[in-house]
Amino acid sequence: MSIEVQHVTKRFGAFTALDDVSLKVETGELVALLGPSGSGKTTLLRIIAGLDFPEPGGGQILYHGQDVTDLPASQRKAGFAFQHYALFRHLTVFENVAFGLRVRPRATRPDERAIRQRVGELLGLVQLGPLAQRLPAQLSGGQRQRVSLARALAVEPRVLLLDEPFGALDAKVRKELRRWLRHLHEEIHLTTLFVTHDQEEALELASRVAILREGRIEQVGSPETIYEHPASPFVYDFLGNVNLFRGRIEQGSVRIGGVRFDAGGVIGSPETAALAFVRPHDIRVTRCGKGQSTLPARVVRFHTVGPVAHLDLERLDDRSCVSVQLSKEELQDLSLQVGEVVQVEFRKVRVFSEDYSI
Ligand code: ADP
Ligand code: MG
Repeated sequence: MSIEVQHVTKRFGAFTALDDVSLKVETGELVALLGPSGSGKTTLLRIIAGLDFPEPGGGQILYHGQDVTDLPASQRKAGFAFQHYALFRHLTVFENVAFGLRVRPRATRPDERAIRQRVGELLGLVQLGPLAQRLPAQLSGGQRQRVSLARALAVEPRVLLLDEPFGALDAKVRKELRRWLRHLHEEIHLTTLFVTHDQEEALELASRVAILREGRIEQVGSPETIYEHPASPFVYDFLGNVNLFRGRIEQGSVRIGGVRFDAGGVIGSPETAALAFVRPHDIRVTRCGKGQSTLPARVVRFHTVGPVAHLDLERLDDRSCVSVQLSKEELQDLSLQVGEVVQVEFRKVRVFSEDYSI
């Protein structure tokens, strides 16, 4: 079952929360909707679920090619789990999961035996079988999230919509649940769209990532594409883990701090102010620069975590920070001292004109 969002616009009063958004989630895909707080992620998910609707004439939602724009949530058969969608406190784990089946109209409600079987299977799937008789208060945060997911799956949804499903949990539990959701998806291949503001979560879990910015889709692509080829300064900035150098575009290359760097092509207007992005692992540090294109910088600090070393430098010309990542061996070979001056080179740099936007 594919999900298609076609030119959806949504306003709250004078404020445009979604502006001509189009996105397709193919059958069996796991797509992450990633964006900063307030970018419209929840609004888009609610419209896909049928809990909210586009402006009149403001686009369509298709499930498997069929227009469901005007259908309410109850008729779309989407399973959803929202961050603030609490479990029923007075019901056991078992009854929480069974709830969606028990409230069905009599004609489509499964009998008690079928409910027991279905809930039993789901609790097995989320690895909570032995905890079926507990109350939510007797579970850890991660276990509660898994009950929410089992509850979303109980009604045999055609698609699964998750809004920051692991939002409130600590880093270690999030990581476990991420891995678990990945496995679950590999097992049941349910078309899934999940919302997150955590770039690492999106890049690790999803087969494709859609980046939302102020109600518009900024970029859609595989995690690798999104990370290696961000389409705009916004995406670079939002994904983080990147150095920004300000400079000028001159004849297809970029001048930073008086030094000219080969950019291998620039994006946007020529001969103007430039934003140059370089990942920490795309920076080479030497004692004496081999080529022409090097910037002098002072060593501020360095530390090693396992096989990876992090080095903080401060440029001599404008005292801005440069973050470098290298292997532990490379750092050892350099045998740097704090305070000494080194030369910075770029292995790979991506340059946008400052006025560039999608
Ligand atoms: P996200 O989930 O990405 O954080 P939301 O979709 O919740 O963002 O909200 C997008 C924007 O729309 C925000 O600026 C929010 O304040 C606004 N908004 C969301 N729901 C409503 C509403 N019911 N009434 C008015 N404004 C809303
Ligand atoms: Mg939200």
